[in-house]
Order: sequence, then structure tokens, then C-alpha cells
Amino acid sequence: MKVMKFGGTSVGKPERMFQVAELITKDAEPKIVVLSALSGTTNALVSISNSLAQGDKHTAKQKIDELEAHYRKFVLDLVKTETAQTKANAVVTEHFEFLNIILRISFSEALNKDILAQGELMSTKMFSVYLEEIGIDHILLPALEFMNIDANEEPQLKEISNKLKEILKQNSNKKLFITQGYICRNARGEVDNLKRGGSDYTASLVAAAINASVCEIWTDIDGMHNNDPRIVDKTVAIEQLSFEEAAELAYFGAKILHPTCIWPTQQTKVPVKLLNTMQPDAKGTVIKEDAGSVGVKALAAKDGIIAIKIKSSRMLLAYGFLRKVFEVFEKYKTPIDMVTTSEVAVSVTIDNDAELENIVRELEPFGTIEVDKQQTIISIVGNEISETKEILKKLFDAIEGIPVRMVSYGGSPHNISLLVNDTYKKQTLQLLNKGLFGL
Ligand code: ADP
Ligand code: ASP
Ligand code: MG
Repeated sequence: MKVMKFGGTSVGKPERMFQVAELITKDAEPKIVVLSALSGTTNALVSISNSLAQGDKHTAKQKIDELEAHYRKFVLDLVKTETAQTKANAVVTEHFEFLNIILRISFSEALNKDILAQGELMSTKMFSVYLEEIGIDHILLPALEFMNIDANEEPQLKEISNKLKEILKQNSNKKLFITQGYICRNARGEVDNLKRGGSDYTASLVAAAINASVCEIWTDIDGMHNNDPRIVDKTVAIEQLSFEEAAELAYFGAKILHPTCIWPTQQTKVPVKLLNTMQPDAKGTVIKEDAGSVGVKALAAKDGIIAIKIKSSRMLLAYGFLRKVFEVFEKYKTPIDMVTTSEVAVSVTIDNDAELENIVRELEPFGTIEVDKQQTIISIVGNEISETKEILKKLFDAIEGIPVRMVSYGGSPHNISLLVNDTYKKQTLQLLNKGLFGL
């Protein structure tokens, strides 16, 4: 059985959905198909939610109506028969009735998650109506019945696997399953999600849960490129990546993959393919265990980073000092990305400023605290790059003149990270593209 995930742009137009239907019926292998919301929908839902959180019901209503008009038009072009039109319109009605009802309910975080779930619920149900119209036998699997996260918002792979296998057993005569990406249930049983871009994570979790033959991520580009194509002009697709390389790239900003979506497939050794819905014959990128070759493969950038420096003369020979510092971040559930230390200071970076004030307050007794916001981590990723000859020379020659705030080398043999001010991000990526790839 294989998993095929289609992102927002791959289902964002009726003609793309027609293409998805073709791609999922090309071969006879049983499949679980994971769909995102139509492109733009989750952004629209976030915006509706924000208006509601600010108490601006009038703007929220306007945005709901705009989104509904988009869906009504979509249905007109998606299905032809009257029966299918009625069914697809009933889906749209059901979900927009819900959105209109929430205008009358007081806003809460749980409600916010319910709002954000509407996109994937609608895309899958509408696609299911289309498949039914063209006579493709399938089952719609509600993700909320098997996709669970725990109190720490971590997906529960074992539980997901048990539930999913049971559902598949009950439908053992079926070959095609359609399910929602992104949405899940939390430890309280409420509707929740796997964070923005989370449909990739759903696909990887599902692939690991059923030990799929492959997890195909279909998107709008022909695989993982060596650099961010939104920022740098000359980029090329990479044929193969190891799980470690892909995980580093995803975590450090390659938007094509959700930041933490690699571990489930890595753990179960299910290969991942990144493919282009618009160019289905393009090679794409294969992510697998033995993706071999040594050397620099790609660059990625992660924005919105905050650097915190703790300067303390008492740190000299003080064992236990770092533990105490890290405990503060643990207490406020804020992961640290980069760390550098010297005899008198330690610098760390975080990407979430929700608890920044509390963290700084609790660090103050340890020494002088300096906070620099609007930083970017630039990661250089490749198998065993830290062993690659002259990598550091090449790297620093390439970015001569760029002020580098922190460097992380040797933490992982697959990653070298630099911290620069946001304003140097584009220039750094371009210079490294030239210096390391000759592009
Ligand atoms: P989907 O909606 O299918 O999930 P995303 O927009 O999340 O698609 O991811 C695909 C986009 O990721 C591409 O259109 C591209 O602009 C962006 N991207 C950023 N970095 C990279 C990279 N290194 N390789 C390929 N795409 C990248
Ligand atoms: N629809 C969600 C988002 O836009 C999940 C996804 O597309 O992966 O973030
Ligand atoms: Mg995505």
C-alpha cells in the first residue's frame, strides 16, 4: 500500500483535482490519499479566526462570504451532473453554516482549531463527490478518527497505527482511501492540527503507521531544490537525500516539507518521494536511508529567530551552569535551535517568542542577558559535510563581508549553521549558491 499526499496548489483548482484523480488511479497498488485544503483556504481561515479573536465579527463575516463564493464557483467547475452538484453544494453549505454559527459563539482556542479544520474537511469531501461522479470506488477516512496527538502535541504513532490498521481491516475489500491532512485530535479529544504545512506530517505518519511501500508528497515543484527557489534565481532539484539531510533541511526552513515530518518515515524506513503534480514525469527527489553521496547538497533558511546571550563571569568552570540555563527553556517548552559557548558566555537561539519575557526574567540571575531579534539561521546541509575537505574555507570565502552572529559546526555531521541578521538572508543565500554550487 502506498501513501500519496497532494498539497494546496495540487487541489487548488478543479482541473488540478482532475489531474489528482488521474494520478491516484494510474496503478493498481492500494493507496491512502492525503489531501490539503485548497490553496489559500487555511490562510483565509486563519484570517477569519484572527478577526473573531479581535471581536471584529463584521470583517469575519465578509471574509466568510468571500471564501464561500470561491467554493460555490469551484463546485460549478468540479462536477457536472445535477446529483453531484447537489452533493458538493451540500458539503459547502454544511461547512459554511458552521462558520456562520461561530460568529455567534464566543471565541476560544478550541474554536480556532475547529475553524482551521474546515479547509481539509471540505477539500476531501468535495474530491470524494467528484470521484463518485466519475465512478472511482473509494472510502473517505475521517482523519479525526485515527490521527492523535498527546498533551505535548506529539503524534502518537503506535496509537495511530493501531487505529488505522483496524479501519483498513474493516475495509479490506477497498483499494482507495481518501483522508484529510493537517487535522487531528488532541489529548482532550478536541479537534486540533499538526501546525501549518502539517499535511506532509499526516502523510509521513500514515505511511509509517501502515508501513507503506512509499510516501509520495505531490506539490508544485519538481522536488527539493539545492536552495530556496523563492529567494534565489538559479536552483536545481536534488535527486536523492538521506533522511537526516531531509530532516535538517525541513527543520531549518525548506518549506517544501513540514519541519518535523521526516521522523516517522525515517523510523520505519519508508522512502519518501517529492513529486510535481504539474510535471508528473519529472524525476523529483527520493529521500531514503542509503542516499549515499558525501558533500554539500542544499541550503535552507529559517527566519524569525531570536538570539539570546547569557554573559556570566561566574560561568568559569561552573559545572551545572548549562543545565540550569537549559532548564529555563524546558520550563517554558521552548526548543533551542543553535548553541555556542565560550568561557564567559553562552548564546542560544529560539524560534518562538511566546515565552521570551518569562525566559529572560528567569535567566537574569545568571548574568547579563542580550536579546537580538529578527535573525535568520542559514543551514548548509549534506551527508558528512563536516568531513568534507575545505568546506569551511569555501563557505567563509563565499560570504566574505557578511557579519555572522553565530556558527554551529560539528553538532551534526550533516549540518553547518550560520546565524545572520534577517537583512543579510538573501545575500547570504545567493553568495553561498555561487560559492558552494557554482550557480
Ligand atoms: P504544498 O502546498 O504542496 O504543501 P508548499 O508551498 O508547502 O506546497 O511547498 C512547496 C513550495 O516550497 C515550493 O513552491 C517552493 O516555493 C517552496 N520551497 C522552499 N524551499 C524549497 C526547496 N529547497 N526546494 C523546493 N521547494 C522549496
Ligand atoms: N492546509 C494546511 C496549511 O495550509 C496544511 C497543509 O497544507 O499542509 O497549512
Ligand atoms: Mg506544504
